[in-house]
Amino acid sequence: MRHLLSAGDLSLAEITSILNTAEEMHTIQSRPIKKLPTLRGRTVINMFFEDSTRTRTSFEMAGKWMSADTINVTGKGSSTSKGESLRDTMLTLDAMGTDCFVIRHGSSGAVAQASGWVKAHVVNAGDGTHEHPTQALLDAFTMRRHFRARAENGQSRARAENGQSRGLGEESFEGKTIAIVGDLLHSRVVRSNVLLQRTLGSKVILVAPPTLLPTGVDQWGCEVTDDFDAALEASDVVMMLRVQRERMHGGFFPTAREYTELYGLTPERLARLRPGAAICHPGPMNRGLEISSEAADAANSLILDQVTAGVSVRMSVLYHLLGGSPE
Ligand code: ASP
Repeated sequence: MRHLLSAGDLSLAEITSILNTAEEMHTIQSRPIKKLPTLRGRTVINMFFEDSTRTRTSFEMAGKWMSADTINVTGKGSSTSKGESLRDTMLTLDAMGTDCFVIRHGSSGAVAQASGWVKAHVVNAGDGTHEHPTQALLDAFTMRRHFRARAENGQSRARAENGQSRGLGEESFEGKTIAIVGDLLHSRVVRSNVLLQRTLGSKVILVAPPTLLPTGVDQWGCEVTDDFDAALEASDVVMMLRVQRERMHGGFFPTAREYTELYGLTPERLARLRPGAAICHPGPMNRGLEISSEAADAANSLILDQVTAGVSVRMSVLYHLLGGSPE
């Protein structure tokens, strides 16, 4: 793997390898001393031209925990604010001996373009409304753990009841249904998740008001509906997306209250989730708009597990790019 630009570039074998290595990295998070020598002597530059809490911090932690030298560059603090082009900034930092760039940029396609200019590896940490592949990987990691735990629970109950032995494959994505709900139009998270989940084999239902549906969504190979309640009853995971007001120019829905009534994960909808179904949200959340506090903080909410997974999955991605294959 040279770069990670799109979730659609990953084969099933590559996804599985990244998720399996992330499991190993996950154990490090609970250790008192979180340090591996794996990337000693490698330099990772985080270039964030858009705001971020989770993604930037978790990439920095991931690099540091593997002993890489991590450096943060932001749009405001770099020479791009003096008029230097992205290409010149990239060439300058590449010439210093950077091994990997982790880039977030407001323009869709900018990260892929930048990857063509440099010798270093490039990770797309979110480009405009286009893609956010490590988010989709950490979502898959979190869901896989949830499916596994659910299957193990069910099996130990079944074993206790009638002596059944442990079956294989219950943690697989085949046969699982994931509803992705809300502001699909402005979401790079949904695009990367659709591509990744297609390779993993789950069924994705997209739920949004018609005004927040991207053009060409009917070509994505997913069921598309504006009926959240019907999707809710069919889903093993309900992923709520943030209403991205900063990207909205114009009225996409009449009032916030109407949006919440039709597309919010309200306490009423929370009570109607299928048994064993989980709640995800990539963050940051608009509590009270797309998700109620009751749902965000519910026992079946995986939102903080997603945050934890963000570090392990990004460690695994950096390791796959810079540390050689796990084999
Ligand atoms: N944090 C995610 C992203 O950067 C989702 C969001 O901002 O709503 O795309």
